[in-house]
Amino acid sequence: MKLEASVASEPAVEIRQGVFRPDWSVATSVAARRALHGRIAARAGLLNQWSHRLEATGDTVWRTALQLYGASGQAPSVSDMAGASGIQPGRLADILRKFESHDLVAFNQTSNRIRLAYPFTESVTGHRVELNGHFLHALCAIDALGVAGMYDADIAISSSCVHCGDTIHARTTDKGRAVHSFSPVGAVIWYDFAYDGSAAASCCLAIAFFCSGGHLQQCLDLQKVRREGIRLTMDEALEVGRAIFGPVLSERS
Ligand SMILES: [Zn+2]
Repeated sequence: MKLEASVASEPAVEIRQGVFRPDWSVATSVAARRALHGRIAARAGLLNQWSHRLEATGDTVWRTALQLYGASGQAPSVSDMAGASGIQPGRLADILRKFESHDLVAFNQTSNRIRLAYPFTESVTGHRVELNGHFLHALCAIDALGVAGMYDADIAISSSCVHCGDTIHARTTDKGRAVHSFSPVGAVIWYDFAYDGSAAASCCLAIAFFCSGGHLQQCLDLQKVRREGIRLTMDEALEVGRAIFGPVLSERS
């Protein structure tokens, strides 16, 4: 992965002119910054173009897919995207297939629809996000919180503690910039650094909510191999989500 210096001289990729990912300016807590450094270190050396700067048409396709996904609450079809972007369906399908090999989206060629575009998937994941009156499935806890930063909108999340299954709720305020409330009060997020080239297949399974630090620890103690990662509070995890997903639809930082 090619890293370029961001304005804050932390490692970041310029995903389009003047827009860097992650956006270090919103990650002010020590834990959020550690999580972002851990994420970058875990991905270094792997063929990962998720954060790579796309050529202009590709960037338009990526943004169109996510704008339609967020606005309609469901994965867009190629014809939806062609209508919104003015790009021919054949060219769109070619670009989507290329994105698939870079772990940016997953595309269902039978239905001609996207089936996954980070942070969303059509699969039922257990991380439910309410955005603009629609209910969507996010791939992991950070992706769920990242929806707020991506759309500059308030969201409500419901998920379950990985250890005991109790429901965890979280809600944002100030157009997704801050945590409004969450329950239970001790809820935490485990941010796992594992990455094998497909976030949906590796780290997203382990980036999850826990009802308490104790339940997270019990879950970690059960692992045969020690997990590399970091525990985050809800506020810290929102910062990580905003840093990763905020730049995606942004015109300029
Ligand atoms: Zn629990």
